[in-house]
Formats: sequence, C-alpha cells, structure tokens
Amino acid sequence: MSTYPCINIHLDKITENTQNMVGVCKACNVSPTGVTKLACAYPEVGQAILNGGIKILSDSRISNLKKIRHLDAVTMLLRLPALSEISDVIKYADISLNSEAKTLEALSEEAVKQDKLHKVILMHDLGDLREGSFYDEETLALSRKAIELPGIELVGLGTNLACYGGVEPTAENQTRLVDLAKQIETELDIKLQYISGASSAGLNLLLDGELPKEINQLRLGASLMMGIGLNDDPVPDTRQDTFTLTAEIIEIKIKPSVPVNSTALDAFGNKPEFIDRGLRKRAICAIGKQDVDISEITPVDKDIIVIGGSSDHLILDIDYCKKPYEIGSLVEFELTYGAVLQCMTSEYVCKHFV
Ligand SMILES: *Cc1c(COP(=O)(O)O)cnc(C)c1O
Repeated sequence: MSTYPCINIHLDKITENTQNMVGVCKACNVSPTGVTKLACAYPEVGQAILNGGIKILSDSRISNLKKIRHLDAVTMLLRLPALSEISDVIKYADISLNSEAKTLEALSEEAVKQDKLHKVILMHDLGDLREGSFYDEETLALSRKAIELPGIELVGLGTNLACYGGVEPTAENQTRLVDLAKQIETELDIKLQYISGASSAGLNLLLDGELPKEINQLRLGASLMMGIGLNDDPVPDTRQDTFTLTAEIIEIKIKPSVPVNSTALDAFGNKPEFIDRGLRKRAICAIGKQDVDISEITPVDKDIIVIGGSSDHLILDIDYCKKPYEIGSLVEFELTYGAVLQCMTSEYVCKHFV
C-alpha cells in the first residue's frame, strides 16, 4: 500500500481522553464502555482505550468485535443482533443490546448450544426513534420473556438518544429510564447491573451534575476518540487533535482560476462554479472523493484554500502560502467525525498509529 494518503492516529491522546473521561464518570458512579466503531475497531485503538482504564469495549458490528477478541476486555455489541449472525454474536460478544423477542429466542438457543451465558441489555426508546420499544409495557413484556429464556441473562436497560431524532439526553428522559428499570426490578424481583443512559451526548448532563445517580453506564465513542460530544461540541478535559490526515503533492502549476469555456457537468454530475481570483499557484494532492468527502477536511495551514477535487485528486490554491511547497511535500488536514469514519474505513488510506 502507498504511504500516503495516511490517517495519523494519536493513540496516546486517545488514552489521555479515556483516562480523563473515566475519571469524571467515576466521580458520578458511572463506568463507561469504550465504543470502537469510529476506528473500525483496530486493535491498537482498542488497546489505547483499555490503557485509559475502560473494561468494556463496544462496537456496532460483530466483525469489529471479532478483530479485538484477543484483547483483555469484556465485549458488547451495540447494534441489535441480526438473526443471520447469531452464532458469531454468542461467540464474540459477552453482552448485546436487544429489542426483539424473536432475536432473544435465537440468542438463547445458540447460547445453550455453545454452552455460554450471554448477557443482554434491553433497549427502550425515549423518543429519538431509532432502536427499542417506545412503550413501557412492551419493554416490560420483553424483560419477562428475557428472564425465562435459558442461556441468556438480563443484565440491564438502555436507551439511545441524539442519534437519529436529535433528542438530547436530559434529566427528565434519563429519569424515565431509571423509573422503568426500577419497575422491571420490582416486578421480576431482579437487580439490573447496568442502566445505560446515553452516548458521549450524555456527558454534558453528567458534567453538570444532572445525570440521575442510578444511571451507571455511558457508552463513549466520539468523546474518547475525538474529544467531542453532543452536537460535536468539544468535551471539557479532552483533546480534539487525535486524528489528522496527510496527503502528498503531485503537481504545482500557475493557472487561471476559472476553466476555459466551462459548459459540461463535473465528474459527479454537478454544474461546477468558480471564483475568479486571477492567475494562481495551484497544487494537486494525491487524494480524492473516493478516499474522503473533501468538504469534511480542513488544511492545518490556514493559507491554503481547498478549491475542489474529483475521485482521486484534490486541488488546492497555495498562492497565499508562506510555506515553500514543492512536489512531494506533505499537506496536513484536520478531520470531522465523518471524515475520520471514511478514512478509517477506506482501504486506500494508510493507517499510521502514532
Ligand atoms: C455509536 C453508539 C454509541 C457511541 O456514540 P458516541 O457519540 O460516539 O459516543 C453509543 N451507543 C450506541 C448504541 C451507538 O450505536
């Protein structure tokens, strides 16, 4: 694989973010799980999170949990298990999040077959409208079902917010989750080990001292990995400079800023528009839309203007730059959550662990 483009993953900074978040959570009796999906569960990143003091690694995909099975961690599957993957779920996940009776039955049957005790957390929907039952009675019925099935153990109640519907975790909705958990505990005469309130989007509430004390788990991905939480705002006591992208310059030429007689559509079927800045020094980097959405990356050198790109080329205006760029020079970029996700997923972007 070529050396560039490459995404630089600062493992020590991810560990530092994790330590800080484990610390603030601990003060509120919360043990966070580390969510690895943004980094496609590269074991290096999983280990960096474990080094920060986390015990449970969680991911949406069973194929990702498979990649970190050799690490010393409890594993949790975040996305509801698909019936077609039940045997791997029992094999590679210690805990899974669930909302369907049929899936619980399949997990139960497979767990008995593999001679395992699989733990389940039931998901309840508090209005964000992704997974989980929206009605208390349905979640109660599911909990009754769960405790009857052999091979699985009901260990918690959870909810997901601020993912689809933009519903913020609040003291009010978190209290509703706690109340439902208490109802399950009373009715079934069990103790739930986990009340899993929110993702990184719940950290504001915790930091403001407004998270109900019964909430004892948060599932943290973006905050550990990129230092961001609700609305992608920075989380206090975390660093945001955990990932950068490096691309290499393959051409530098002086050219006009407006194409000669532009009448056709660009490679993506859009009518291109141009700002006339006159004759400018331009650079082409060997990276393009097949690697990352170029509107989601920002040059660290603020004198660079990103003027466009195609599948495999990124065109920069470097006319204002003080730095003496030449062929072979490297250009560094800051990344949004979406850009990190794409770069981590792309086979064309080399992964450089720092
Ligand atoms: C992705 C995910 C998380 C982590 O969200 P972040 O915003 O990255 O902290 C938590 N819970 C579930 C169910 C998820 O799918």
